[in-house]
Amino acid sequence: MNNPERIEEGTPAQLYEKRKAVHPQKVDGPFRRFKWLVMLVTLGIYYGTPWIRWDRGPYAPDQAVLIDLANRRFYMFGIEIWPHEFYFVAGLLIMAGIGLFLVTSAVGRAWCGYSCPQTVWTDLFQHIDRLVDGDRNAQMRLERAPWGPKKIAHRAVKWSIYLLISFWTGGAWIMYFADAPTLVHDFWTGQAAPVAYLTVGILTATTFALGGFMREQVCIYMCPWPRIQSAMLDEKSLIVTYKDWRGEPRGSVKKAQKNPGEFGDCIDCNQCVAVCPTGYDIRKGPDIACITCGLCIDACDRVMEEVGRPRGLIDYATLEDCEREKAGEEPRPAWKALLHPRTLIYFGVWGGIGLALLFALGVRSHTDISAAPDRNPPFMLMSDGSIRNSYTVKLRNMESRPRDMRVTMEGLDGGRMWTDQMASEDAARELTVTVAADSTEPLRLYVIAPPDTASQDFAFTVTSLDQQAEMDTSETYFEAPGGE
Ligand code: SF4
Ligand code: SF4
Repeated sequence: MNNPERIEEGTPAQLYEKRKAVHPQKVDGPFRRFKWLVMLVTLGIYYGTPWIRWDRGPYAPDQAVLIDLANRRFYMFGIEIWPHEFYFVAGLLIMAGIGLFLVTSAVGRAWCGYSCPQTVWTDLFQHIDRLVDGDRNAQMRLERAPWGPKKIAHRAVKWSIYLLISFWTGGAWIMYFADAPTLVHDFWTGQAAPVAYLTVGILTATTFALGGFMREQVCIYMCPWPRIQSAMLDEKSLIVTYKDWRGEPRGSVKKAQKNPGEFGDCIDCNQCVAVCPTGYDIRKGPDIACITCGLCIDACDRVMEEVGRPRGLIDYATLEDCEREKAGEEPRPAWKALLHPRTLIYFGVWGGIGLALLFALGVRSHTDISAAPDRNPPFMLMSDGSIRNSYTVKLRNMESRPRDMRVTMEGLDGGRMWTDQMASEDAARELTVTVAADSTEPLRLYVIAPPDTASQDFAFTVTSLDQQAEMDTSETYFEAPGGE
């Protein structure tokens, strides 16, 4: 929005300020190298994961990470999540949410500065800019230049690379929902589902627009997360800070030499602004526009080295530590800021949920039974006075091999059961069913009880007839004339 200072008298106030393109200058240093590393790892994971194979035997897909919507399964390496186990996915999402709070509490907006997809793709596209147009000054010259063959050629090459990366990004996304090699073949031979083409089209367009053109505007104006983070940061949070008590009043090296003792350490070289991916001047203080990537620290440290002044004029520090340093006390090492009680609480909750999920994964049974009685009619009176109830029973085999399962009745004395596939004369208190690998077997079960049996609870129990001998029980109800 328009800064009031910039509205000159007589100029009609405008609601929005025209965007000034940001052309960050190349920089090197520990934060830049860390950013490279995070970019390589995150992009590598995103583009490469669908191609990792994972042998689950002949009855399950061999893609390590797969969201199989058609069969309602989520595969993640050795873990297979069924629809009735959605609480695992919910748990992971809760962990991701608390993880963001944890990271913010520990290291400020590090998520925004390093691993948010908007940051990673913007960073990637800014490198493409440098590769095609040259560094900051060359980019600015080209932007100011009138349209001509050179500018058209540069823009065409650059935008084509943007488009290629965007398309690759959209293409990688759909690979998570189907077998990657098969989908690539189907996609290029026109046999993929229309939704696959639509998804790639939408993601290509959004990556192209958000990473290629909107860039820092997404962080400053569109994303809600910085607003939430602002409410979470306090004087104990690590942020990127300009030490104004050390840097001000700023003045060039020449001025400082002419007037010793009158100027601070900042030589007003603007390097910190030139390298900033959002174009922010950190010397104005903490702001939503600072994603805390630390690149201005790299730039300023280099400048300080060149002019022979101590590094750390711009630094990762808490406001509390800055006050301490300003008062002449020894600065605390940055890692001590991590031991904040709030951070430890977040870590405890996050770790607790993680351990609970791991425990639930470790002890979960791969055999499951559910039984639902028919309610219309609730029972049938047979000619000999016996009473029959019908049930829809589902046997779930979550192993990637077929298994024999024994279903038994617990309670309901004198009761016997049979299925559609059996003669009622063969009714018994237990029966064996083979359930295909990784699937659910629906059974139509009839239960008959002697005359005068009262309505009562009973249960079906399933036991896998293999080494695991897993068991599960489903409580249900037998309805007789006269009700309860
Ligand atoms: S890079 Fe350092 S010295 Fe240069 S303007 Fe920024 S704060 Fe001042
Ligand atoms: S001000 Fe510094 S830390 Fe903040 S976004 Fe810009 S370069 Fe990164």
